[in-house]
Amino acid sequence: MEVRNKGRFVFWADAVADSAIEHARRNSMLMVTVKSGGSPSGGKHIGNMNDQIRAFFIYDALTRKGVRARLIYTNDDMDPLRTIPPSAPNGDGEWHFFTDQELATLEKHLGWPYSRIPDVFGCHRSWGEHFNSVIQDGLSRIGIVMENYDNSESYASGRFLEATRLTLSKTVLVREVLSRFQRNVEKNWIPFHPVCGNCGKITTTALSFDLGSETVEYECKGRVLAGKYVIKGCGHRGFSTLKEGKLPWRLEWVAQWKVFQVNAEPFGKDHYEGSWKSGQALAREVYGIEPPASLVYEFFLVNGEKMSSRKGNAYILHDLLKVLEPEVIKYLYTKRPMMQRNIDLKNLHLLVEEFDRFEESFFKGGSEEAARIYPAIVGKVPDRKPLRVSYLLASYVIQFYPVEEAYRSLVRAGVVKEEACEEDRERLLRRLVLAGNWLSMFADASKYVVKRELVEVDLNGFKQAFKELVEELSSLEEFKGEEIQNIIYSTARRHSIPSSSFFEKLYMVFTGRGSGPRLGYLLAALGKEHVVTRLKTLLQTP
Ligand SMILES: [Zn+2]
Ligand SMILES: [Zn+2]
Repeated sequence: MEVRNKGRFVFWADAVADSAIEHARRNSMLMVTVKSGGSPSGGKHIGNMNDQIRAFFIYDALTRKGVRARLIYTNDDMDPLRTIPPSAPNGDGEWHFFTDQELATLEKHLGWPYSRIPDVFGCHRSWGEHFNSVIQDGLSRIGIVMENYDNSESYASGRFLEATRLTLSKTVLVREVLSRFQRNVEKNWIPFHPVCGNCGKITTTALSFDLGSETVEYECKGRVLAGKYVIKGCGHRGFSTLKEGKLPWRLEWVAQWKVFQVNAEPFGKDHYEGSWKSGQALAREVYGIEPPASLVYEFFLVNGEKMSSRKGNAYILHDLLKVLEPEVIKYLYTKRPMMQRNIDLKNLHLLVEEFDRFEESFFKGGSEEAARIYPAIVGKVPDRKPLRVSYLLASYVIQFYPVEEAYRSLVRAGVVKEEACEEDRERLLRRLVLAGNWLSMFADASKYVVKRELVEVDLNGFKQAFKELVEELSSLEEFKGEEIQNIIYSTARRHSIPSSSFFEKLYMVFTGRGSGPRLGYLLAALGKEHVVTRLKTLLQTP
């Protein structure tokens, strides 16, 4: 998570923020602008969200340094629809598989800019607005708000006009610079894509331009997008203004830096080799600006695989929010960016436990890392450590009881104090719900499931110890976690059984596997009657 600097901890966001401040100072800008951007191409998976969330942490670092800063987002909605995903999130962030009829309708819009494609879900004005709204909604649920700029609006309103004119006026230079980074830059290529007046596609080819009348003549020839998506043209020839089309991506990105006076922008490793290299040269040689401070991040894997909506393993923030608290999600994005992260959804409790320890280390003091990062995650630091219950324990308890009853079982078990405040209560209830969702959505069903039916466990060599344990447990007035834990230990010791083997046997009885959440608490939460009955039944089986 840290950048080591002579033994002192430096949060990566602070390092980028410092470069951004320096960038703004050199260029006499009074405000520091952090930008991220993206195409509203469908559901933006949590790997892609590195863009926006890392940008937020840079922005947050700037404000903590007392610098005037803003966090902006360009919704690149003039980009063409190049392929139709099999499924996409609806307005509430729930995945929907497109019907054959919807697919047929969308097929007609291949090559159209997202901002002009009707919203299949019918809740927004366009495809672009719909998917951008899902992105913004997911972010706002974890407390991130950005200033949004739709590219369609920026072109139509003339915000990009000056940059577009500048680009076209330097067409020869643009070709020369780009040809250093890309093969096949044609010698008569014009860096502008008008929207076809006949078929609506933005995959047209500019034939000539006239800066006096601000028009571009084009032919709708179609294009191969991203090297593999073939979009056919209708052959129409016509004229377009500079407000009815877009700059090619590599140029548009740099033009945005100029127009919005961008000082820092994070981007994925894929851009690092490609558009970032050409972008730096275009910035200096064509647009006369210095490229912003950058942050390159690595991708996320989920369960060890690359995410793809085609494979059905792409998850958006809304999916994560069903199983994780917003602070745990944000914590994930504070980790060192240049390392590939695997999000192990099957064992998600490990991530939550890591966060709980991190939070605890903040309140204990002494961790430079936690002292710097925790406040950025939670925004307003609470006066005292929020009460947490182990996610894994929650996941077991919720299998036994409805939410409210599960909460009461934790109070009975002594995990939660009777007088817990309303905020703590709400937080624990939420974790119980999240852990329950995790079980049904992601957890390995054979693993973290409380065995309702009796599990056959070989008690050879353990029988006497088990008998005494049942007696002691039956005699308890109060069935509390800490006490049960101690009784298990002392019983094992009395019988000279290694405590690890004794615990393993007991786990086998209740979870069907050799481990689980802290056993005393689990048994306490399951309740005396259940625990004693099960152990007695087991002892009676021959
Ligand atoms: Zn919609
Ligand atoms: Zn056309």
